[in-house]
Amino acid sequence: MTKTGPGFSTLAIHAGAQPDPTTGARATPIYQTTSFVFNDADHAAALFGLQQFGNIYSRIMNPTQAVLEERIAALEGGTAALATASGHAAQLLVFHSIMGAGDNFVAARQLYGGSVNQFGQAFKSFDWQVRWADCDDPDSFETQIDEKTKAIFIESLANPGGIFVDIAAIAEVARQHGLPLIVDNTMATPYLVRPLEHGADIVVHSLTKFIGGHGNSMGGIIVDGGTFDWSKSGKYPLLSESRPEYGGIVLHQAFGNFAFAIAARVLGLRDFGPAISPFNAFLIQTGVETLPLRMQCHCDNALAVATWLQGQEKVSWVRYAGLEDDPNHALQKRYSPKGAGAVFTFGLSGGYEAGKRLVESLEMFSHLANIGDTRSLVIHPASTTHRQLTSEQQVAAGAGPDVVRLSIGIEDIDDIIADLEQALARI
Ligand SMILES: *Cc1c(COP(=O)(O)O)cnc(C)c1O
Repeated sequence: MTKTGPGFSTLAIHAGAQPDPTTGARATPIYQTTSFVFNDADHAAALFGLQQFGNIYSRIMNPTQAVLEERIAALEGGTAALATASGHAAQLLVFHSIMGAGDNFVAARQLYGGSVNQFGQAFKSFDWQVRWADCDDPDSFETQIDEKTKAIFIESLANPGGIFVDIAAIAEVARQHGLPLIVDNTMATPYLVRPLEHGADIVVHSLTKFIGGHGNSMGGIIVDGGTFDWSKSGKYPLLSESRPEYGGIVLHQAFGNFAFAIAARVLGLRDFGPAISPFNAFLIQTGVETLPLRMQCHCDNALAVATWLQGQEKVSWVRYAGLEDDPNHALQKRYSPKGAGAVFTFGLSGGYEAGKRLVESLEMFSHLANIGDTRSLVIHPASTTHRQLTSEQQVAAGAGPDVVRLSIGIEDIDDIIADLEQALARI
């Protein structure tokens, strides 16, 4: 076998970083500065005109942020990346780069609830329409596509149930219609799934979850796969037409296979402004260094918990793709052989009251609305995130009255199970 480059764990620690050239600092410093001094007037002009890369102002670019970008691009196998203040900011900048008023995109219905709101509500004010499809039915994407469609959007491992999606089948639909496939890889992380290897063109993340991994910093990122031809159809004018403010440059011509990451930075981030703080970029970078270790432990612990829950009398069902009898197990084996992630749902035969009682009785688990922390987390969606819905709507969203969602942490497995055991006993 020929070795093609450093392995994943090596990249997670080293990609993008080198000792600081002025001080020798080994860890990437937090460049807590808003702006950067120009060498001379010509240097400043070249930076502003995009003839030369360099730091100007931390809304657009910052050296701490740059290391995080290069590292995630390497882990995903992309050409370049752009870090943002949150996952939602990354999604906004992705769609701003490709959508115009009156355009639409097709998205899987099975998404993080915040994305359902962003696409269905906030994007309406730009006159960007979302059309919903089913993540387990590639044809349902195809039938929604028309001449105003600009992209397809899915999650690789869909919230909240933890369902693996057949990325290659949906990528094929996108390819046949000349559309980019955008994949939210937050729940899987590149340690488990690398969507670009299955035909995706752009990857987005909420770095807030497993990649940062410690529940302490918000962040998002856009990874450019470098695979999509932005000029062919004439449907992506921000990339394929000349930009007067940058001396008439055509971004796709000038930057080739990383033009999308440039467009999101010099048009989207520049004008909307959701830059990640250097401090958050630093904390997230530190998190990335242990991503392979943490993710494997998350998966191993989650499988042990799911298996244990299946044997409990008060538990009526468990949905975890890592279980051999789960309907999603074959897709998990194909796309994510190292494990099925940390987030899954199960049902309590005692229904709504039992769900409330369980979250109140857990001692080590934290009852909160997040995933992807080192700590084990729990939520009862029907009494919290989904309480405004009718019980029919709750069931349709996979958040029926009996449903409990867990995000399994990396504590000792015996302690995780002991906490669930004592809480179940109190129902
Ligand atoms: C949390 C999350 C987001 C949004 O990210 P923020 O960092 O909270 O803005 C998007 N997609 C998925 C799958 C998420 O879990």
